[in-house]
Amino acid sequence: MTTKPLTRTTPPAERDRTSLELLYAISRELTSKLDLREILQRILQLTMEHVGAATGSILVLDEQEQVIEGALAYGGEVHDHTAEQLADTFERGLAGWVVANRRSALVQNTRDDPRWLRRSNRMEPDEESRSAISVPLVARDRVVGVLTLVHPEPGRYTHDDLVLLKAIADQASFAVENARLFAAEQERRKFASTLQEIARTISSTLEPSLVFSQVLSQLRRLVDYDSASIFLQEDGQLRLVAARGFEDDEALTDLTIPLDSDALGNSVLETGRPLVVEDVQREQGWIKGTDLPSSENIHGWIGVPLVVRERVVGVLNVDSHQIGAYGPADVEVVAAFADQAATAVSNAQLYAEGQRKLDAMVSLAETAREVSATLELEEVLERILSQTMRTMDVEAASLALVNEASGGLEFKIAKGEGASKIVGRRLKKGEGIAGWVAEHDEHLVVPDVRKDERFYPGLDELTGFETRALACAPIRLQSRVIGVLEAVNPKGGEFKPEIVELLTGIAGLAGTAIAHAQLFADTKAARQRYAGLFDDSFDPILITDLRGKITDANQRAVAFLGYQHHEFLGKGALSLHVPDEVETLHADLGQLGPGQALSYRGRATHHEGYPLPVEVHVKRIDIERKPYLQWILSDISERLELDELRQDLTSMIFHDLRSPLGNVISSLEVLKASLHQEDETVQSVLSIALRSSRRLSRLVESLLDLGQLEAGKAVLHKSEGSVGALITDAVEEVLPVAEAKGHLLKFHLDPDLPDIEMDLEMIRRVVINLLENAIKYTPAAGSIQLSVENKGDRVQVSVRDSGMGIAETDRQRIFEKFARIQQDGRPKGLGLGLAFCRLAVEAHDGTIWVESAEGKGSTFTFTLPI
Ligand code: ADP
Repeated sequence: MTTKPLTRTTPPAERDRTSLELLYAISRELTSKLDLREILQRILQLTMEHVGAATGSILVLDEQEQVIEGALAYGGEVHDHTAEQLADTFERGLAGWVVANRRSALVQNTRDDPRWLRRSNRMEPDEESRSAISVPLVARDRVVGVLTLVHPEPGRYTHDDLVLLKAIADQASFAVENARLFAAEQERRKFASTLQEIARTISSTLEPSLVFSQVLSQLRRLVDYDSASIFLQEDGQLRLVAARGFEDDEALTDLTIPLDSDALGNSVLETGRPLVVEDVQREQGWIKGTDLPSSENIHGWIGVPLVVRERVVGVLNVDSHQIGAYGPADVEVVAAFADQAATAVSNAQLYAEGQRKLDAMVSLAETAREVSATLELEEVLERILSQTMRTMDVEAASLALVNEASGGLEFKIAKGEGASKIVGRRLKKGEGIAGWVAEHDEHLVVPDVRKDERFYPGLDELTGFETRALACAPIRLQSRVIGVLEAVNPKGGEFKPEIVELLTGIAGLAGTAIAHAQLFADTKAARQRYAGLFDDSFDPILITDLRGKITDANQRAVAFLGYQHHEFLGKGALSLHVPDEVETLHADLGQLGPGQALSYRGRATHHEGYPLPVEVHVKRIDIERKPYLQWILSDISERLELDELRQDLTSMIFHDLRSPLGNVISSLEVLKASLHQEDETVQSVLSIALRSSRRLSRLVESLLDLGQLEAGKAVLHKSEGSVGALITDAVEEVLPVAEAKGHLLKFHLDPDLPDIEMDLEMIRRVVINLLENAIKYTPAAGSIQLSVENKGDRVQVSVRDSGMGIAETDRQRIFEKFARIQQDGRPKGLGLGLAFCRLAVEAHDGTIWVESAEGKGSTFTFTLPI
């Protein structure tokens, strides 16, 4: 910028032009710069150059007319200055008068102008200042500054200069105002962004206790304080939650002030408005030093309410050791800050609440995970209790289960002091708090057991432990209480409601976990029993999946089939043996339902290739809820050998006995006929010999038939004959023996019995067999009744006796070969008679069965189709 200093010689037209140039230059300066000091320096410089001056100043004032900014020039140059220099200039110069009177001043000669001398206490005349001119800077009706020029020559300034200076002052005052507004805006923005940053910092912490101390430390960025504190309203009192700047901040935590006192904090709480106090020591409601250490040093004080969701929840206090340290502007700052802080506090509280719930959920989830990770009952109980101790933060805990028989409780596990003495202890039904809980199926919190009659002190006496507070919850399975969970003496002093919720939550989990563990223990025992049976079994056993792939084999199978255990695995069970009748077997196996079984005979092949006769029982079983097939291969080689031996023996006996026996009988018959009929002794001896021989012969015949009938051979020599005659014949045969035992033998024949096509000799032996059994298995002097009925399509023959009878379980079995009833005092036999009868009757397409009442008698019945 090029401007020339004006001189007295400059003509008026020229002056106007340069004045306008000056104003234009100033306005350009003003718009190009925003820094107030720089602007002021520039304006002063231009003005001095233009109007001409040795010394000059522009001073900017605040509302209290304190100099806050300015520019100073001397020796024709603008210089940097200090705040004191500015203040000094204002106080000592003409400027003070101008501001006070809001008027401009034109001093022609400083020596005789009282305005100049007004505040000067210097007696020395000022050579440098002879004439002066000064104008106020007025913006929005307020004096915001003053512009002064001083010249060493007297009468240097004219009225024109005054007009020009006023124009400059107008422009400058705008600049000052703009700069001030700008600065205020800057300040506001800075404040806002500081607040924002503070809010961010605070909000990044969600732990309430940390939030509060964050709030206080951040507050220091906005307001200078010696100490500060936050009180929250809780349960009818104000509780100190954070303090800063006191001698011992920590020690103050949890200090409380009753809400009904006239404490300053309370009035803030009541009115919901900020309060600024010049000196709290002069206030009645100030906290005594005894209540709040170092409070006697506090003078200046601000209290602002903390408002969360339109509710005053606490007070933020800012203290200064200086009287009147805070003004309205500070209150505004603290209040704005408190709003931010309150939001953060509320967030933290919400978070804490959520966190508590979350913590509870996490604890429960953890408990669930812990207790379900094992199925061993002991371990489950141990984990339940560890979790209880940990999450409830208690000194001791215990778990008792209901004894089903007595209804009382038995402690299964305990933790804490004297725990080992508790385990195994019992409480009678309804005894103690645990008993009450189990009986009422309700949880219970007892803050002080000494005040509760239900408390049973016996256990404390035993352990030496002192129970103070106790929480107890029932452990349920479905709707049944199976035990109780107890938590004793919370370390925090009392049981919080959410903690009690946690206890019931854990108890809830415990129910199912314990039930599962018990079930598991049962299953394990069953499995062990099965494994024992499996391995110790005398029979070889294979376990396969439903398709027959072997998954396990017992020791006996290893020995029997000659494979190593691992060689069995994965092999097909049916590749190890060939069933006799293989056609339908696959389909039958496929249809086996759970628990169903089927049996067949076959040949297994030993690892070394030789065959092994087996009887196979296949059963569908469940192992751990999965279906399997269990194949029991009974080694029947011995049985077969035995059968073969019997077969050989019997056939040998039959053939070697049959013909000589036939000879004996016919010889006896001839002898009997030819000898003296009158000689009774001889006759009866011969009769006995004949009867016995015939019995022997019948036995041989029956045995022979039995073998052949069993083998399915056609041995019947059928001819038509009368059932009646056959029966009479049979009765005659056994009558002497029956009489000898004193039995009463009755028989009933339907009159219209038809002749039947049958093997007469065989059926006669069947009837004799039944009659002989009746005589044999009926104690002396019994009654035997034989009846033959025409049933239309069949003839039905029954032999009823009054003997010992046959147990239900034996009734089917006695028709099997060699089946005898082993019983003390029961006559012994071979167990072949009834087997023969069955085969003989069945060979005639008839049926045979027995009905009996034990101890009262039996009735054997058979039918023959007509
Ligand atoms: P045995 O009489 O030679 O032993 P059986 O086959 O005739 O053989 O009979 C089988 C079993 O049935 C006998 O051991 C006997 O215990 C029982 N039994 C047969 N008949 C009767 C009966 N009438 N009363 C009681 N028990 C009988």
